[in-house]
Amino acid sequence: MDLPLACALQERSAALHVSCLPAFQDNYLWVLHDHTHAVVVDPGDARPVEHFLDQQGLQLAAVLVTHHHADHTGGIEVLSRRGTIPVYGPEREPIPQLTHTLHAGDEVALAQPQLLLQILHLPGHTLGHLGYLVPGPIPWIFCGDTLFGCGCGRLFEGTPAQMLDSLQQLRRLPPSTLVYCAHEYTLANIRFALEVEPDNQALQQRAQDCTALRQAGQATIPSTIALECATNPFLRCTQPTVVHTIQTRCLETRHDELSLFTAMRAWKNRF
Ligand code: ZN
Ligand code: FE
Repeated sequence: MDLPLACALQERSAALHVSCLPAFQDNYLWVLHDHTHAVVVDPGDARPVEHFLDQQGLQLAAVLVTHHHADHTGGIEVLSRRGTIPVYGPEREPIPQLTHTLHAGDEVALAQPQLLLQILHLPGHTLGHLGYLVPGPIPWIFCGDTLFGCGCGRLFEGTPAQMLDSLQQLRRLPPSTLVYCAHEYTLANIRFALEVEPDNQALQQRAQDCTALRQAGQATIPSTIALECATNPFLRCTQPTVVHTIQTRCLETRHDELSLFTAMRAWKNRF
C-alpha cells in the first residue's frame, strides 16, 4: 500500500540529505542523496561530483539543470558516462544532453532516492530557467541563478518584468522554505543591500552572521524565504525606505514595483 503523501514527504526529510559541493570561484553544486542514490543539481564541473559520489559510494540517479550556462552544465557530458542517467532541464535552451524537458507545473517523482520535484518556470536570468521545489514540512527550492542570498541574478535574456514575476513566485513559497541558489554571492550582495537599507536590523544581523560564516570557511547558503523577504532588497522594492532610496539614488520618480525593481537592478549592475 502506498504511504499517504504527507507521510512519504515526512520520510523524505528524514532520509534525504543535501550536500554542498563548491566549484569554480563561487559556484555551489547541490547533491541530494539517501546514502545510496544521488541527484545532482547544475553540475558545471564533473570533478567534484565524481569525487563525492566515489568517496560516499553513491550511485548517480539523475541530473537536474536550472539553465544552460556552462557553469551549470559543463559536467553533464562526463557524468552521463556513468550509466543511463536521466538529465532534466528546460526546453528551448541549448543543452544537448537533456533527456527530459520540463515545464511549469510538472512534477517529477523519483524512486531512488525517493523524491518529489515540482517544477517552477523562473525566467529572467535566462528565458527557460527552472526552479526545482521539493515539498515537505520544510520545503527546499533549488533556484539556480534567479534568487541569490540577498540578491538576484543578472538579466541576460529576460526582461525585468519576467525576473520580478519569478521572484514573486519564490516570495510566495512558505517562509520556512530553504533556498539553495547556485552561487556564493551573499556578502557582495549584502554590501549593496546595506546601501539600499542601511537601517534594516535584520540585514545588519545577516551581515554579521554571513561574515562569520565566510570567515569560518562555511557557505551562507541555504537561506530561507523568510530571511530573503526580510533582507533581500529585490524582494523589498515597495518598502517605504527602499522606495525612498531608489527615488533618491536612481532618480526614479515612478513607484510601481516593476519600475522600482528595474531601477534597482540597473543600479546593482553599476555598483
Ligand atoms: Zn547563469
Ligand atoms: Fe551561474
